[in-house]
Amino acid sequence: MSSNNYQVIIVGQGIAGTLLSYQLHKNGIKHLVIDQQSEYGATRVAAGLINPFMLKWGRKVKNGDEYLQYADALYRELETFLQTRFYYPTAVNKLFKQGDRELWEKQMKKRKFADEVELSDRDLSAEGISSKEGYVSIKTTARIDFNVLLDAYRCFLKSQSVLLEESFDESELQVNLKGVKYKQYSANQIIFCRGAWESRSEMFPQVEFEPSKGEVLFVKCPSLNLSEIISKDIFLMPVEDGCFKVGASYSNQCTDIKPTLEKKEELIRKLDSFLLRDYEVLDQYSGIRPILTDRKPICGFVGESPLIGIFNGLGSRGGLMAPLYSKLMSIDILQKDNLLGSFN
Ligand SMILES: Cc1cc2nc3c(=O)[nH]c(=O)nc-3n(C[C@H](O)[C@H](O)[C@H](O)COP(=O)(O)OP(=O)(O)OC[C@H]3O[C@@H](n4cnc5c(N)ncnc54)[C@H](O)[C@@H]3O)c2cc1C
Repeated sequence: MSSNNYQVIIVGQGIAGTLLSYQLHKNGIKHLVIDQQSEYGATRVAAGLINPFMLKWGRKVKNGDEYLQYADALYRELETFLQTRFYYPTAVNKLFKQGDRELWEKQMKKRKFADEVELSDRDLSAEGISSKEGYVSIKTTARIDFNVLLDAYRCFLKSQSVLLEESFDESELQVNLKGVKYKQYSANQIIFCRGAWESRSEMFPQVEFEPSKGEVLFVKCPSLNLSEIISKDIFLMPVEDGCFKVGASYSNQCTDIKPTLEKKEELIRKLDSFLLRDYEVLDQYSGIRPILTDRKPICGFVGESPLIGIFNGLGSRGGLMAPLYSKLMSIDILQKDNLLGSFN
């Protein structure tokens, strides 16, 4: 195989493209990753909460245990592979509003997850948090520092000379029965992992997007000594040196990708409803969640060409779901690769 000949080209290096690339690497599949890094990439701005529960409803996400089990194993494996720490199992304490306690008690009995969660009436005010109605502590959650993971994996791709840092130009893509060609690079298959950017393309007209913009604040509060994540409408997540992430907002207004004053004020209002300490807002980030109309992730070959695949629709739980879906996508790719020749 010549140096510009690959089995697979991946477009996009958010969490979808990163984990798919790692799965292909493990299977010895020669591939090229094309990514134009953006400060608005969903993975880059995401808080990084890995949570199999729907906190509002006191229930688990469908297949939540399977997602979590595989995600936990894959992130730990990647930490070893990249020799970098980015995955931190951390409890989430969901502060109750009126009626929440009864809901959680009922669900805990019905759905039998009492060993994963614990109800508490402990007063957290000395620790800087107002918890008048009590809270539920969820033990099977984690936070992931997505930027550390993406940067470390990017370094790995560069060390293998398989990262093309540019904006993918669709007009340069040629497809025939045996494979695809992009500029001087040829491959058997191409997989698009472009997150919400895919909604602006015509590549998969049958895939319908309903993206949602999200914003996060980065705040400094040195007097707050918190090791676990707090959630009440929004979350307050400890990250480093007295700094915390606060978010996230939701909006279907996705035309302007930049952070807004409106959402900053909304997040501050929600934070002030339970944080009893003074803090300073250091920064604000925004990005677009790639959500499909049926709210489910998509991975596979759904377009007109059987050689053009998509891995997308990770919504607001990319950290939880991307690991298992990346595995499924890689199985599809491997099966197809066995049947194909090279582009010529
Ligand atoms: C504010 C906010 C908070 C969130 N919080 C969480 C959270 O706590 N936990 C959680 O699990 N999920 C969270 N999410 C959701 C999560 O971010 C997404 O599910 C996930 O990151 C989607 O990953 P992706 O790889 O599909 O897309 P992205 O991360 O957007 O990656 C797409 C990549 O493709 C690149 N790209 C696009 N077009 C091109 C092109 N033409 N050429 C080259 N490169 C291109 C982009 O630059 C980017 O690098 C949050 C999202 C937002 C917006």
